[in-house]
Amino acid sequence: MDAASRPERNLRTAEILAVGAELTVGETRDTNSGEIARSLTEAGVAIARIDVLPDRLRVVAGTFRAALRRADLVVSTGGLGPTPDDLTREAIARVLGEIPEVDPALEAWLRGLWSRRKLPFPEINRKQAWLIPSARALPNPNGTAPGWWIDRPDGRVVILLPGPPREMRPMWADHVLPGLRSRGLGRGLISRTLRLTGIGESQAADLLGEPVLRRSNPEIATYARVDAVDVRISASDGRGQTADALLDEAEALVLDRLGSYVWARGTTTWPEAIGAELERLGWSLAITESGTEGSLGTLLGGLAGLRRAEILAGPGSAAAVGTQAEAVAARSGADVGVALAARPKGDDTAISVGVATPAGRHRERRLGFLGGSAGRSRAALIASAALLKVLRTALPGSSRR
Ligand code: AMP
Ligand code: MG
Repeated sequence: MDAASRPERNLRTAEILAVGAELTVGETRDTNSGEIARSLTEAGVAIARIDVLPDRLRVVAGTFRAALRRADLVVSTGGLGPTPDDLTREAIARVLGEIPEVDPALEAWLRGLWSRRKLPFPEINRKQAWLIPSARALPNPNGTAPGWWIDRPDGRVVILLPGPPREMRPMWADHVLPGLRSRGLGRGLISRTLRLTGIGESQAADLLGEPVLRRSNPEIATYARVDAVDVRISASDGRGQTADALLDEAEALVLDRLGSYVWARGTTTWPEAIGAELERLGWSLAITESGTEGSLGTLLGGLAGLRRAEILAGPGSAAAVGTQAEAVAARSGADVGVALAARPKGDDTAISVGVATPAGRHRERRLGFLGGSAGRSRAALIASAALLKVLRTALPGSSRR
């Protein structure tokens, strides 16, 4: 169907199908759906569901049929191989009531792949040259399975992509996403993320309150990440306001309730946040840690101003962190020293942090939730948060050397 006669339909909702018995028996992990979901979400498309399906014609066809009733966009990966168990093409053809036929151009391209290597063309691969009348082929420079782009008369779009990630990714990024964008993707969704520390996800959710978390535009959601609790605020134009205005309003509300826990925005990492402060102050850093198996050094790895990262054996001594922080800075010729000591306390981890800067000394003691590696990573986060807090209130000028 040509663009002029196609009804306008913004692609606001999508469903994703991952097809393949290797996925449903647990042999291969479905990474494709998550990647596609992330990129569609970024574009402002709401993912209504992701289904992982075995290579069964009836199951795949049934899922396509149901998804096409609900979503504007349906994307599948897998089942485009040459073998009889690869039946995604058959499934969508059945749902749309169309009959696949060998496309001469695709067949010539396919045959060329073999003749180039002076090999006979395996007839089994012929079905990879199939198309249905409403589909056009998406080129696959990395394999033998072209994708399919299908425009429905009602403006919906169906995309079939090959399963192997190295074939799927370029097809998605180079052909599908640009095409979908020019087609009208998403609803102009924009978002901001506030990164929190020193608070658990459930406590953050509690402080925001259920009515706030249930709202849809702007939408406020919490995510427990390894290095932070993220509060993501997203909005699109609506209710007579621009998305930006809605975001500002929602952000003010979040800051009012959780502002004291916010340490960064967007995708900022601990090394980035701490590195930026060190650079502002013109300071360098040295760390020493015990009882943590190096979790702080790992978290801060790659930090530009880091002169030394020491790992001491055995549990750390809480009483000594202040002097240790000064000592490690002095030994390393660094402006700032951080000493972290962790030791098990019941099921949890007792954590002590000392931070020494040219401006003074700071100490913090906390009981980190859980022991073992969870407690050790928490210790690294607590130390990083203590360091960042000290750096943020420091003034440039005073340097040790
Ligand atoms: P296909 O022939 O298109 O069904 O896919 C062939 C191969 O792609 C499979 O054997 C898997 O190794 C890989 N694959 C298929 N689907 C996925 C998926 N959803 N995520 C990651 N890899 C996949
Ligand atoms: Mg397969």
